[in-house]
Amino acid sequence: MAGFEENFQLLHTEQLDRFVVAKRDLPRGEQILLEEPLVTGPYWDADVSCLSCLRDSCSTCSKCGKAPLCYDCTEHDATECDFFRESTALDKHFLYNHFNVITPVRCLLLYRKNRDLFDEMMRMESHVEERRGSEIWQIHDKYVVTPLLEAGILDSLNDGELEVTGELIQRVCGILDVNTFEIRGDVDSSQNGSNLARGLYPKTSLMVHNCVPNTLLSIDGVGNLRVFTSAPVRMGEMLFINFTRSLFGTFERQTHLRQGKYFTCYCRRCKDPTELGTHLSSIKCTECDEGLCSFYPSEPRWECNKCRKLLKREYVNEVMCAARSEIMECGKWNIDHEPT
Ligand SMILES: [Zn+2]
Ligand SMILES: [Zn+2]
Ligand SMILES: [Zn+2]
Ligand SMILES: [Zn+2]
Repeated sequence: MAGFEENFQLLHTEQLDRFVVAKRDLPRGEQILLEEPLVTGPYWDADVSCLSCLRDSCSTCSKCGKAPLCYDCTEHDATECDFFRESTALDKHFLYNHFNVITPVRCLLLYRKNRDLFDEMMRMESHVEERRGSEIWQIHDKYVVTPLLEAGILDSLNDGELEVTGELIQRVCGILDVNTFEIRGDVDSSQNGSNLARGLYPKTSLMVHNCVPNTLLSIDGVGNLRVFTSAPVRMGEMLFINFTRSLFGTFERQTHLRQGKYFTCYCRRCKDPTELGTHLSSIKCTECDEGLCSFYPSEPRWECNKCRKLLKREYVNEVMCAARSEIMECGKWNIDHEPT
């Protein structure tokens, strides 16, 4: 992938497993990596859509007789089409009834398509132990694992070296949930939102999370991901990425990272109740005039920096929700009233 060999050095430690540091001094604003997705596909809960472009589907592939396609597309990925064509016992409505299986099946088909890419995918973090038995585990069991095992279509991949079991499918679902980045599709798409896809980028995923990252990402309409430096990075320094939203406050960022990525962030922004002086998640004290109540993640609480008043979580949530909807309203107003 363009940039990886020149700019990234892969290291291992017991604590962090695999991570990357800068291989040379990198100035701010430089593109340091261009990565194509290993796999792209719909989210596990997406509506049935065209397997080629993910727009609304209105026909079925004439070659395999099972894949949903749209008005414009006449084919989808050749390995995938062959696989469904060979699955002669599979009900022709299977993909319409179990559209949730598509992206995990694409991951497993890498085994047939490109063994190196399959191995690279299987080295990615799945957090399978933390997920075992959880709500998301049960959802994937019901909507992905059980339909696939009952249909038996993946048995054709078994070759003595690989055996497709429920455990393996859960691991793939974990890899997807933990590592995929959102692809927003063609900018000129007339069907906003219906072609929201996700992609796996193993090189980019080697970067460690930090709420004050030194890189930023952009993904274009065809799914290519570019990584840029957002600050100068010296040779040997770690390359950090933000796996959550920069404009979330500490409580929301930490909740998102814990529930979706299975770790707690201890970066300098998370440890500082003022979020490095920005007070991004502080709210005005209800007791005194000048105080700001900030979130202290070590012993979770909102406490005033002047009078030490403690605010209840419910109250903070209420204020935050109201503020958020007011901000959303502002956005709408601007769009509606833009001069023509
Ligand atoms: Zn299409
Ligand atoms: Zn087909
Ligand atoms: Zn953090
Ligand atoms: Zn106060």
